[in-house]
Amino acid sequence: MQITKRRDDTSAQVLARKNRGAVIGFVPTMGALHQGHLSLIEKACQTCDMVVASIFVNPIQFNNPSDLEHYPRTITADLEKLEAAGCDLVFTPDAQEMYPQAITEQYDFGKLEQVLEGEHRPGHFNGVAVVVKRLFDIITPHKAFFGEKDYQQLLIINALVKQTACPVEIVPCPIIREADGLAMSSRNLLLTPEERKIAPFLYQTLCEAAEKGKEESIETIVQWGEMQFQAHPSFRLEYFQIADSVALQPLHTKEGDKAARILVAAWLGNVRLIDNVQIIF
Ligand code: AMP
Repeated sequence: MQITKRRDDTSAQVLARKNRGAVIGFVPTMGALHQGHLSLIEKACQTCDMVVASIFVNPIQFNNPSDLEHYPRTITADLEKLEAAGCDLVFTPDAQEMYPQAITEQYDFGKLEQVLEGEHRPGHFNGVAVVVKRLFDIITPHKAFFGEKDYQQLLIINALVKQTACPVEIVPCPIIREADGLAMSSRNLLLTPEERKIAPFLYQTLCEAAEKGKEESIETIVQWGEMQFQAHPSFRLEYFQIADSVALQPLHTKEGDKAARILVAAWLGNVRLIDNVQIIF
């Protein structure tokens, strides 16, 4: 497995393989890798000839300086895991390499960025879009793999690709969970042992809410979900919402033919957790 730190080296390595007809798959990450990330690498290996990963803790997508400071960094273990998973090239730039000059890109994702994560993390999705577009320009992949764990981000990336006419296929990948249901996340490393025991409550509540989808109204389910978190001594809820799966706009009435998701963000101690599940009415 090759490791590059510079943009031009990375582009050159990829281009050499591309010129020999290789299909290039790309998995962008912020490191502290777990089986969720590795499932994306494995999926890329199945359909691509060369798999490229990036590890870059992107400062401009953090709206909270303390979150950036405490974000877990486990580079040595990450490289071992990527190699074992079959990754061919890892791009590990520093901030100077990604952002040598002032950042001027300003994307507009309309209503999609005004809800949920976009509403609660101002500037977050522009930071994500800037880094992903720059990475796409460096790596020029045929396919890029994104997890449904960050469901809204996946839709933002689809919109980015459309807006910028970027010739890359976005491949959505299912959420990988711990045995107790907790969605795998780099931030789980920041939970205390006590918090880690409580954390599956997030997914359990989503599952119970999805189950109620068959009988209850959307309003009733959302109120029930909000109450579960408000009554819990350890969680501080940011949102619990049911939205359509395509535009992520809040749903108020059941529309049978529309695929929908329940999405939640909540603080457990100092750690902000997000998760989502499909709901079928
Ligand atoms: P991150 O390192 O958090 O920026 O995540 C990099 C990629 O891995 C994103 O596309 C995430 O959606 C994806 N990812 C993170 N956690 C999971 C998970 N538990 N299951 C599937 N994909 C995930």
